[in-house]
Amino acid sequence: MPAYEYICKDCKKDFSVFLSMKEFETRPKIACPSCNGDNVEKKFTSFYVKTSKKS
Ligand SMILES: [Zn+2]
Repeated sequence: MPAYEYICKDCKKDFSVFLSMKEFETRPKIACPSCNGDNVEKKFTSFYVKTSKKS
């Protein structure tokens, strides 16, 4: 599942939100987990894929 990185412009806290593509397309309202504000900005998208293998 993709994790969307956001940063809160109010308290400068960054956090990641897990959303499915479908959920993301509906432009959900993201609230800062720290201050509960919605003045957040998307940083980048990263995919959490476990590819590391112990050889
Ligand atoms: Zn905040």
